[in-house]
Amino acid sequence: AKQNIKSSIQFYSTDLKDDALKRMDLESALREAIEKEQFELYLQPILDLASGRIVQAEVLLRWDRPGVGMVSPAEFIPVAEQTGLIVTIGKWVIKEAISLLMDLHRQHKYIKLSVNLSPAQVSDNGLLNFIKKSIVSSEIDASYLELELTEGVLVNDFDRISEFLVELRALGITIAIDDFGTGYSSLSYLQKLPIDFLKIDQSFIFELIGNDSNQAIVQAIIGMAKSLKLKVIAEGVETEAQRDLLKEYCCQFVQGYLFSKPLEYKAFCALLNT
Ligand code: C2E
Ligand code: CA
Ligand code: CA
Ligand code: CA
Repeated sequence: AKQNIKSSIQFYSTDLKDDALKRMDLESALREAIEKEQFELYLQPILDLASGRIVQAEVLLRWDRPGVGMVSPAEFIPVAEQTGLIVTIGKWVIKEAISLLMDLHRQHKYIKLSVNLSPAQVSDNGLLNFIKKSIVSSEIDASYLELELTEGVLVNDFDRISEFLVELRALGITIAIDDFGTGYSSLSYLQKLPIDFLKIDQSFIFELIGNDSNQAIVQAIIGMAKSLKLKVIAEGVETEAQRDLLKEYCCQFVQGYLFSKPLEYKAFCALLNT
């Protein structure tokens, strides 16, 4: 038994060391990625369910890592958050999203773009001014820009967040709550803060068919949103059965692989033209 414990401890510490090394590797590679501009924005269509038209797109970050290929943000955003690199990366995302908006509008495609903000970005005091400046210098209509925040961001430092959101709203920017239904927070913030959209978390949609409790939750979210005059986007729609049920529930907007995966900008524009 003693032997076993010892070897499992060794195994554990080697694991930790590997993790730490991997993190450091990733951190320096991310710094290089910023300098060498290895990031790219993909766009995933959001459709109006009744008309089937693309009205919006979510901006999703991709890292074209040399020798590796496209890396999903799920793999590097956590490290970018822990190291604070997300602040620089996030500013690049906002700037790039605004330039894509300008390009879309030049083509008379009046599509709205939504950008994800992680907690560390929202804690950065410079973010609001950065957004203001970027909007003023681009002269875009800010109502075409939406920011996605998770519920977790809202519970920390409520007064500061409230002020931040009120200022964004004054610019015309809209706010969506991402992964809604997974945050375990009080719902009172929905009335207190200037929020426009709820994005129902994918987990409820993946297991919607044949799951009574998920069906009840999704219907309750849609009903509540309606009475609070919020709009709803269902994320992670992969099947026609899910889409049909959401239509029955009068869900207004949908996003998911059934309609389209996140696309490179060119492919997204091509899709808009079909
Ligand atoms: P999220 O904001 O919840 O984004 C939705 C994720 O679900 C995306 O993964 C998208 O590609 C994926 N997805 C969309 N439809 C479907 C579907 O029908 N089925 C399945 N299985 N998946 C679907 P992605 O692009 O890998 O992004 C992962 C997460 O990384 C995002 O989750 C978001 O939290 C974060 N992220 C992405 N881009 C940014 C960014 O620019 N800034 C920050 N701070 N976070 C970002
Ligand atoms: Ca999102
Ligand atoms: Ca989400
Ligand atoms: Ca998420």
